Amino acid sequence: MPHLERREKGMDGYPQEFRRVYLDNNATTQLRPEVVEAMLPYLREHYGNPSSGHWFGRSVRTRIEEAREKAAALIGAKPEEVYFCGGGSESDNTALKGAAFAKPRGASWRVVTSDIEHPAVLSTAGYLAQNGYCQTVVGVDRYGVVDSAEMAAALDSTTAVVSVMHANNETGSIQPVRRIADAVRARGALMHCDAAQSAGKIPIDVNELGVDMLSMSAHKLYAPKGMGLLYIRKGVKIHPLITGGHHERGMRAGTENVAGIVGLGTACELARKGLAEDAKKITALRNRLQKGIMEKISSVRLNGHPEQRLPGTLNISIEGAEGETLLIQCDTQGIALSTGSACASGSAEPSHVLVAMGIPRNVIQGSLRISIGIFNTGQDVDYLLERLPKIADAARAS
Ligand SMILES: *Cc1c(COP(=O)(O)O)cnc(C)c1O
Repeated sequence: MPHLERREKGMDGYPQEFRRVYLDNNATTQLRPEVVEAMLPYLREHYGNPSSGHWFGRSVRTRIEEAREKAAALIGAKPEEVYFCGGGSESDNTALKGAAFAKPRGASWRVVTSDIEHPAVLSTAGYLAQNGYCQTVVGVDRYGVVDSAEMAAALDSTTAVVSVMHANNETGSIQPVRRIADAVRARGALMHCDAAQSAGKIPIDVNELGVDMLSMSAHKLYAPKGMGLLYIRKGVKIHPLITGGHHERGMRAGTENVAGIVGLGTACELARKGLAEDAKKITALRNRLQKGIMEKISSVRLNGHPEQRLPGTLNISIEGAEGETLLIQCDTQGIALSTGSACASGSAEPSHVLVAMGIPRNVIQGSLRISIGIFNTGQDVDYLLERLPKIADAARAS
């Protein structure tokens, strides 16, 4: 769905079409039209409170449970193992704090993460470390893949919970979650996995991954912002983060975001059905873009794993250029992409992910993250390939 904006007058005085190309799908995604359509009745006529015993409540309760089934089907879970919440960050917080708070008081329990986790995990582990828990952060290799040997060595009988993401939001590198989960669970600790970036893009099966908890964010999956879910394996007991009523079986109090839940359920179903085809199409676009950039621009390096990577993620460094300059120049040409992560940009700090990978600071400076989604087309790739070489030349000269 290319975005075309009519401009009053072009350089030649005639009206011009100004192209807008969105290549920042790891930051957020456009809602699928089917998701919007599915949500609308729950913003209009079906406004009942799902906890109400009358028809208005009962009819929306049914739709929540249908959405739960669809979400569970995407990740190979049972519907009763899915808890809806207010986004990926809340889901990560619930998993880590909930697991930590469920431990008996007195001992110093440990929270272990990798050092490329999303801030929702890293800051939460940091918060716990300031509030009576211990924290260990495990490193990654040059491809941004968690070192499973270092992880195994970090585990002991005081480990309460380990959190390793399924795929990284900046590089797309896919993590050895199963191998880590086996070691974690052998120690009697809980394994959490942030799958905000991988859900709907690569196959996920919570049993194959061997995780106890898994987080998803709706807006990375063509569904609305402020919506997410936490999978909690049956039998695993953690504390709720939000207390109050008995919503989400006591795991997350608050009247349900019915439209958001229906939207997420619909997005999960569409993602599951289209996964193989979407991944194939997006991988082809990404590979063409990567090849084109490498051919047209000198001294470009790929950040992240060359193969074990999300279909749509391309993180590169244009050596000798300033990422912020590249970003601004792209923006003036209607191209939306990112340096590092959306959460980190705006701050002058270099990406913690690229730093953890041992990439020299001057190379990190020229990093760009291009993330392709289901709405992107070959024309989008062509447009970037046409513009980026000139933008890179200009940025290098500045
Ligand atoms: C986006 C994202 C989150 C946060 O999700 P929100 O719904 O924006 O709170 C957490 N982890 C990863 C890996 C993400 O990409």
